[in-house]
Amino acid sequence: MSFQVEGKVAVVTGGSSGIGLAAVEILVAEGAKVAWCGRDEERLNASKHYILEKYPHANIFTKACNVLKKEEVQQFAKDVKLNLGNVDMLINNAGQGRVSNFENTQDEDWMKEIELKYFSVLHPVRAFLDDLKQSANASITNVNSLLALQPEPHMIATSSARAALLNLTHSLAHEFTQYGVRVNSILLGMVESAQWKRRYETRSDLNQSWEEWTGNIAKNRGIPMQRLGRPEEPARALVFLASPLASYTTGAAIDVSGGFNKHL
Ligand code: NDP
Repeated sequence: MSFQVEGKVAVVTGGSSGIGLAAVEILVAEGAKVAWCGRDEERLNASKHYILEKYPHANIFTKACNVLKKEEVQQFAKDVKLNLGNVDMLINNAGQGRVSNFENTQDEDWMKEIELKYFSVLHPVRAFLDDLKQSANASITNVNSLLALQPEPHMIATSSARAALLNLTHSLAHEFTQYGVRVNSILLGMVESAQWKRRYETRSDLNQSWEEWTGNIAKNRGIPMQRLGRPEEPARALVFLASPLASYTTGAAIDVSGGFNKHL
């Protein structure tokens, strides 16, 4: 069964790398028109070339845009509409986590983390909502973390901001039913990312393969599936929630953590 997104317009924030790029690729492969952004122009161009090399006929649009800058996001939304048409699916993926505990998290760090988790969603939602209201299959899908339900002391600010985002996602889901816009999220465990690749380059045992190294991390952290997730795994869950296949699902969160969740 296909995701039924052919001809529909999708936006992926932070689509130039990792999970975002994997979602872009699935959407393009399924025949959707896809727009994505990131801050770094070079990374954005590299992702565009990667997609066009594999899918020369892809209908895509990319633009450098910082999701924390309201005017840039509004301009991005206008440009997407102009280039691809009215948006059906918004995937809010842009962001990163902060490793720090209470002792070494300063007030400014708290403010930055709260700003990132709220406004990386609020700015795009405001910018695209009018378009989404006009779509027969409108969805907003937020990338969130299992930290929202299962906080980790070494990521104290990220954990509490993630909990706030889960709460916000629920409120938006309920408010937006009147517009026919579904709002869902995925809760990630640990997924292979550029950050992990950088740490791998500086590993102490250079004989360790990527699989061994990440497998050990997963075992030490107690991930039951004993490996990190691959970007395409959360990406598939994202595209499912965004697609018409999830037409009766709103306010939901799919866990993509390899069994790392400890709650029922
Ligand atoms: P990557 O670093 O590979 O990708 C992040 C993407 O977001 C990049 O395209 C980056 O591009 C973009 N981005 C970051 N900040 C902004 C911004 N302010 N405005 C626009 N684009 C931005 O990370 P992942 O794929 O691993 O992560 C994707 C999402 O999943 C993130 O929100 C992350 O916090 C979340 N997550 C990831 C986990 C993991 O284990 N990998 C665990 C839990 C959550 P650029 O830097 O050029 O702007």
